[in-house]
Amino acid sequence: MIAEGYDAFLFDLDGVLYRGDQPVPAAAETVQALREMGKRVAFVTNNSSRTPGDVVAHLATVGVTAAIGEVETSALTAAAGLRHLDITSAYVIGERGLREALEASGIAIVGPEEPTQAVVVGWDRSLTYDALRAASLAVQRGARLFASNADITYPAPDGTTWPGTGVIVLALEAATATRATIFGKPYPPILRAALERAGGGRPLVIGDRIETDIEGAHRLLWDSLLVLTGIASREDHRAAAIAATYVVEDLSALIAG
Ligand SMILES: [Mg+2]
Repeated sequence: MIAEGYDAFLFDLDGVLYRGDQPVPAAAETVQALREMGKRVAFVTNNSSRTPGDVVAHLATVGVTAAIGEVETSALTAAAGLRHLDITSAYVIGERGLREALEASGIAIVGPEEPTQAVVVGWDRSLTYDALRAASLAVQRGARLFASNADITYPAPDGTTWPGTGVIVLALEAATATRATIFGKPYPPILRAALERAGGGRPLVIGDRIETDIEGAHRLLWDSLLVLTGIASREDHRAAAIAATYVVEDLSALIAG
């Protein structure tokens, strides 16, 4: 049984535990079975628009029981990272999850013309040119550029893909000739924070995207499990430069055998 070799199971959300509003077969039962085996879990998402409370509520609708303290979003990782750098002010492109995480960490969110130490970018479905210009000018005046994550696409519930946070990041990088510091997968901070939430031990990163979930585990030399219920196919995995430790059709493979 795959699960026997690990202490902490770090679950990506979309394409792993749900697809939009729909449950993924075998997902909720597997999380419950892991808990009953005494295993620890954390829920890790690059999506910065939702608060941990939103995530717990959404997981409940697909039958997955989660505690707020088990949820690591790229917004939380970004807020902790900024605090670590002693940053206390930020101009923000992003939705409620990012704004609340920053404010909860004591970071003041400033208006477009106000002095700021940082520009922080997350997914923002009401992005305007004015906001892009304000962020660009702040960086040109010396603010550091950060992003919750760099996903180029967002997998929409209807199966299409929408522009993700990474598109906004690329626009600002191009406009300011700087590189953003990124906290979400595949970069290590979010996965390290998730392992801490799960109480440490030997981790298994579980996800449906090779370039974020599997690459993130690879960078930390952690094992990974690619589940084929989301974005990536077996062909994508074969063509990729890195390999997941396990590739499975659905999450029941974790506790089978
Ligand atoms: Mg996913």
